[in-house]
Amino acid sequence: MKVIKVDPEKCTGCHQCELWCGSEIASVGKELPLAINEQPQPVPRVYVEGKKFAIQCRHCDDAPCVKACPNGTMRKDPETGLIYVHEPTCIACWMCVMVCPFAIINPSPTIKVAIKCDRCRNMGYPICAEICPTQAMTIVDRKDYRKKKFTT
Ligand code: SF4
Ligand code: SF4
Repeated sequence: MKVIKVDPEKCTGCHQCELWCGSEIASVGKELPLAINEQPQPVPRVYVEGKKFAIQCRHCDDAPCVKACPNGTMRKDPETGLIYVHEPTCIACWMCVMVCPFAIINPSPTIKVAIKCDRCRNMGYPICAEICPTQAMTIVDRKDYRKKKFTT
């Protein structure tokens, strides 16, 4: 399965990924100038932690959020392995928010639904990786990501 790899050495903390995720995915207007002025503010699904590390959903193999969800709203796409929220059935119990080890699931500020990165599953390519000016975020096979991680 394809996952987003973040290279902290390349991340400059410019927050472009947050801005574009917020405007392309979360805003009504879908354009940066409109998104900046939207109320309530669109919530991005990726965050820059500290000064230099973009953090998003890891789409865990054995996802704690999917296990914790009481009614099957948090789902794993059987074809891609991507974890996503089936919004119409969310009961806003926030079990998923509590169990995510990376703290990337948030309650929506406007409607009672959990929001999280779904790696732009309905688009061709994740917007954060597409716009990152230093290629700090790239798409890789999960198995290659792990291999590289443990051999360097
Ligand atoms: S939301 Fe959290 S627990 Fe669920 S798959 Fe993503 S990283 Fe794993
Ligand atoms: S908040 Fe929604 S997605 Fe999260 S565990 Fe509850 S029902 Fe499932």
